[in-house]
Amino acid sequence: MSLRTRLTLLYSTLVGGILLFFGFAVYQVVGQALVRQVDDLLARTAQDMIAGTRYIAMRGLVFAPDPGLEVAANLYVQLWGGGSELVYASPSIRGLDVPLAPLDRMPERPVYRTTVLRDVNLRVLSVPLVVGRRLVGTLQVATNLDIVRQTQRLLLVVLGVGTLIAVLVAAVVVSLTTRQALVPLQQVKDIALQITRADDLSRRIPYHGPPEDEIGQLIRAFNQTLGRLEDLFQSQRRFLADVSHELRTPLTVIKGNVNLLRRMGCADQDSLASIEGEVDRLTRMIGDLLLIARMEAGRLPLAEEDVELDTLLLEVLEQSRVLAADKVSLKLVEIDRAPVRGDRDRLKQVILNLVENAIKYTPQGGEVSVRLCRQEGQACLSVQDTGPGIPPQDLPHIFERFYRAEKARTRSADGKGFGLGLSIAYWIVQRHGGTITVESSPGQGTRFDVFLPLAEEG
Ligand code: ADP
Repeated sequence: MSLRTRLTLLYSTLVGGILLFFGFAVYQVVGQALVRQVDDLLARTAQDMIAGTRYIAMRGLVFAPDPGLEVAANLYVQLWGGGSELVYASPSIRGLDVPLAPLDRMPERPVYRTTVLRDVNLRVLSVPLVVGRRLVGTLQVATNLDIVRQTQRLLLVVLGVGTLIAVLVAAVVVSLTTRQALVPLQQVKDIALQITRADDLSRRIPYHGPPEDEIGQLIRAFNQTLGRLEDLFQSQRRFLADVSHELRTPLTVIKGNVNLLRRMGCADQDSLASIEGEVDRLTRMIGDLLLIARMEAGRLPLAEEDVELDTLLLEVLEQSRVLAADKVSLKLVEIDRAPVRGDRDRLKQVILNLVENAIKYTPQGGEVSVRLCRQEGQACLSVQDTGPGIPPQDLPHIFERFYRAEKARTRSADGKGFGLGLSIAYWIVQRHGGTITVESSPGQGTRFDVFLPLAEEG
């Protein structure tokens, strides 16, 4: 059963149930009030009748009402003597020789009864007439209950029809509103199916209702999931394309050199060196890829040791001096003690990558300045260069795998860059509870900042 049918049934049953309950209560209360009114009328009439009744010892009961007393046409009166003989009957029931209601032999107090006499519904008040302690007769006053029954029947019809209409209206309203409310869900389903069929993750679900209601939130979450999936699939595709591209170039170079060697028939040192260089490059790339794969699979354990970031920085600078050589001036502007907890080798890899990139991308005569300071419980390591900078459109992607800014996309002169270094650095810093940021203005230089939580010194 669909959600819409279930909701419609639930609400209609609820509305019907509530209305039936109140209808029953109203029916009962109105019925009782009507009968009470009738009983009051019977009691008043009985009083008037008793006032006109005499008991004479020798003759028994005598009915001599005031001349002004008139019995209403819808009221029936019978006066029965002590020996169950009819003493008086009101004009409309003169021919009736049976009591309106059974006569009690030892009545103690007036009794109201609802009876049916010759197919007529009657409400009868029987009042025992007692003289001394002797029962000398019974006065019965009755009225037709048809009008009360009719009123009750009419009430029943009104309540029944009202309940039915209310249930129908509730069903229609609930059905329409749930249909309207569920239309976006239907769209979600349709689009999800289309995406599955067409394998097209670029589609989004349109929603024109209020964005903050539950459906709006659901659709936003669904669209965000689609966006995330699209990014993931795209990056997976790009990743495959990049890996194939990166693998093809060195393999082509190797193959070319092998052909050359074969034609020459001897081992040419340059070709061998080129082959060796390409094999090294491939080995490095596969090493980086393996590292990323293990990182992403969560299978790259990080050591938890005390690391003096300042000592690590000095080591890296020492190592990088060879690379900088006469090309750029490598300056240590500031260094502070910065103990952190983490994996020494991986942290060194981050610093080395940033410093090497700065040296690599800064042209001859440029400057690379490095500083390490403490800032609000964090170690802050900055590597700033005076290189060409990174174009703004590349900045948001710089930490993605295989991403290389436009200028660096052609194979770098030293043939080393794959665009994997920064994504590895990003992951390592993140796993150490830190952040890595980049600021760059084209033509003026680039600055990478790494923030790592300082270890508590005990
Ligand atoms: P690569 O091995 O290509 O250097 P990275 O992941 O280390 O890979 O860097 C990704 C890209 O970021 C580089 O290709 C380059 O375009 C850009 N980049 C990184 N550092 C700098 C820098 N200091 N100056 C200018 N561009 C940089």
